[in-house]
Amino acid sequence: MRTTERTHEVLNQAAVLEDTDAFGADLALAEAVQREGGGWGEDRLRDCGLVAGSAEALEHGRRAERNEPRLLTHDRHGRRVDVVDYDPSWHWLLRGAVEREIHSMPWRDPRPGAHVVRAALMYLWSGPNAGVMCPVSMTYSAVPALRCEPELAERWIPRLTMPDYEHGALAGMAMTEKQGGSDVRANTTRAEPAGGGEYELVGHKWFCSHPMCDVFLVLAQAPGGLSCFLVQRGPGFEIQRLKDKLGTRSLASSEVEFHGAPASLVGEEGRGVATIIEMVTHTRLDCVVGSAAGMRRAVAEAVSHARTRSAFGAPLIEQPAMVNVLADLAVEAEAATAAGLRLARAYDEADDALRRFATAVMKYWVCKRATPHAVEALECLGGNGFVEEGPMARLLRDAPLNGIWEGSGNVIALDVLRALSREPEGLPAFLAECELGRGGDRRLDAHLDALPVELAELAGEPGAAQWRARRVVEQLAVAFQASLLVRHAPAAVADAFCAGRLGEGGRAFGTLPAGVDGQGIVARALP
Ligand SMILES: Cc1cc2nc3c(=O)[nH]c(=O)nc-3n(C[C@H](O)[C@H](O)[C@H](O)COP(=O)(O)OP(=O)(O)OC[C@H]3O[C@@H](n4cnc5c(N)ncnc54)[C@H](O)[C@@H]3O)c2cc1C
Repeated sequence: MRTTERTHEVLNQAAVLEDTDAFGADLALAEAVQREGGGWGEDRLRDCGLVAGSAEALEHGRRAERNEPRLLTHDRHGRRVDVVDYDPSWHWLLRGAVEREIHSMPWRDPRPGAHVVRAALMYLWSGPNAGVMCPVSMTYSAVPALRCEPELAERWIPRLTMPDYEHGALAGMAMTEKQGGSDVRANTTRAEPAGGGEYELVGHKWFCSHPMCDVFLVLAQAPGGLSCFLVQRGPGFEIQRLKDKLGTRSLASSEVEFHGAPASLVGEEGRGVATIIEMVTHTRLDCVVGSAAGMRRAVAEAVSHARTRSAFGAPLIEQPAMVNVLADLAVEAEAATAAGLRLARAYDEADDALRRFATAVMKYWVCKRATPHAVEALECLGGNGFVEEGPMARLLRDAPLNGIWEGSGNVIALDVLRALSREPEGLPAFLAECELGRGGDRRLDAHLDALPVELAELAGEPGAAQWRARRVVEQLAVAFQASLLVRHAPAAVADAFCAGRLGEGGRAFGTLPAGVDGQGIVARALP
């Protein structure tokens, strides 16, 4: 026997989770797709899930993450080139998303359920690497904003929606500046009229993800006030540097400068925020769906690990304390998935009242839950969870991003406050959806009864309302999730959610009260 064999017999290491059927095994997703009107997309979803769960795709995800993008500002003769050099695996993944129309399906084929099917594809394709989904989501979201400008729409939408990685185009967004990201009114980038209805931009943007996009929606100060512009990558658009980021490390997020970059006005001068809000609403939907996807991948890894790893003489998956953690994580992921796809249906149905209000509420809450969820799932793998060779470290590093992007927690909570007073149809539509679950669980009924009291507290002095905003948004969000689960999920899942989130659950994951069917929930979540 060789010396190494005496010291390195590999025992009790959990199986690697790859070559799985990511759609077929995800009952919460498959059922939600059917329920929300996307049943016709099952074949595409199955194909997408098989590829996304394959060893090949997962290796591309790891490689794109390991070989981070590099910025090349100049060629060897000193001419500016402003290109980002990505690993071929990044292109493999991004091409896969574009060819599956994840950036465009509802715009190409706007049949009922198209937003639902697209959301499910987005969820599945996020599995190997979430960073790649950023330009996919931005392109999907830019289209509705561009539609208000028929000439630009005619010129760009055919390319932005093409399922062709070489000949199609991708859209990004550049709003955030050094002095303010949430408060875009503080933008200093200037748009100077250049004649013929065109403008030239002068200024900077502090964050601009995937600066290799073909076009960008940019906010800048025109003579008539803050306005939205379409800017093409090219002369006058310079990439200063790439951010060294906590997560989504496969994705280049850059700082850019505009030196007289040609720009076309989108919407009216002075109406920049109102114009770009359509893009923002769609990317917020993707923040929910992307966070749900991260949770599902984390649950799948945690359950798979617990099934094939033993401690103290028994597989972890048979040990009650671990079952409580896994079940609690699985319930959270299912609630996020159900909410994401229900929201997507509101986009299919152009149900504006529900769509705007519910997207903000659920963006706040699902993104807020993503990071503690990722931490707990990582801990299920013990020390292996902390090591970069596995997927958990990446999932954790990626988890906070959706919470920051497109409205950080406070900003979203304040947006919901604003919507309460300025969009009077939003809250009633939201509550009507929650009320559909009434009678399904006594804890949900009690929660629904208490909501008006919570909401009434927002009616007073603005400072007090802002102080309470997060709390109320959280209460609204769990009502929405509980209502969906009570109506549509297996009784064990709905019961655990109501017990853990509206009843006597504790603060950390793994504190579901006694009587919950943890084994049943974990069996449902098996990858
Ligand atoms: C990886 C990554 C990629 C990004 N890509 C892009 C991109 O492609 N394009 C783009 O335009 N931007 C992008 N961003 C920027 C992102 O949208 C902003 O960081 C975000 O909007 C917050 O803006 P800020 O960083 O200026 O923070 P600030 O606006 O300064 O906010 C800081 C904190 O203050 C809170 N806050 C703000 N206002 C209030 C208030 N009134 N009351 C209470 N609290 C408040 C916020 O919630 C936040 O917690 C990206 C960011 C990251 C991390």
